[in-house]
Amino acid sequence: MRGMIRTVLGDIAPEELGVCDAHDHLFIGSPALPGQELDDPEAALAELKAFAALGGRAVVQWTPWGMGSRTERLPALSRQSGVRIVSATGMHQAKHYDPAELERRHGGLADLFIHELTDAPVKAGMIKVAGAYHRLDDHARHVMTAAAEAHHATDAPIGVHLEAGTAALDVLDLLCGTHEVAPHRVILGHLHRFPDTRIHRQAAEAGAFLAFDGPSRVNHGTDWRLLDSLSALADAGHAQQILLGADTVTPSARSDADGPGMPFLLSGLRPRIERELGLDLATAIFVGNPARAFAARWRRP
Ligand SMILES: [Zn+2]
Repeated sequence: MRGMIRTVLGDIAPEELGVCDAHDHLFIGSPALPGQELDDPEAALAELKAFAALGGRAVVQWTPWGMGSRTERLPALSRQSGVRIVSATGMHQAKHYDPAELERRHGGLADLFIHELTDAPVKAGMIKVAGAYHRLDDHARHVMTAAAEAHHATDAPIGVHLEAGTAALDVLDLLCGTHEVAPHRVILGHLHRFPDTRIHRQAAEAGAFLAFDGPSRVNHGTDWRLLDSLSALADAGHAQQILLGADTVTPSARSDADGPGMPFLLSGLRPRIERELGLDLATAIFVGNPARAFAARWRRP
């Protein structure tokens, strides 16, 4: 059986994915970030249309369970914009949830993830989890253990929020060492926030996908290292493992506000990568790599 990518409108062959923003958000909200919610469907549609106008064909929303992913809105947004959307299940850091709700869900996370991947009206196509700062706390270990179980039951890929880009190797130790998830089914996110090229190289040598973010106000301090990080990985033979997303998490970060938002991936970043690092690498990052990273041999327990 070949791998398929699970979009909100159904499973597609990897070659149908096209130019992909591999880590982003149309909807997200957290009690830890009051007033910064992405919850406006019209604004989400406008951003998708702006991305599509530049040739964008797919967006992966890494908003996990319980953080306002508005999954029920995604099929209509996908139809209206012509952009394929992959949504996520999984769980973020504990601070993003009501403690009583976390307590209620504690023992049933793997079943919850499996349900959202295989049975929900709009199915998720990946499992999102999160580490802590330079370490994995008890919550992160518990959620990653459940994610590994759900991965083994469904074959869904696992995307990881690395806090400030840190603890990449600890995540691989736990998911791949302890829980035997194949490294190429793990996508490490936010690595550009911690531009330690030695760690990037070690994570790539382990076999994981490495997801970098486009520039943003919050990551301004490390954004200028992005092309150097990509180039170092490509030079070391890891061009096939790099992904890029805009990771838009607040209304002010969208292209109709203070930007740069989703469209800048294609209007600003891709031309620079093509010019400075080569067309082949740009095509791998935006088309070939996401098609492999998000494809799964879907099954149910
Ligand atoms: Zn994100």
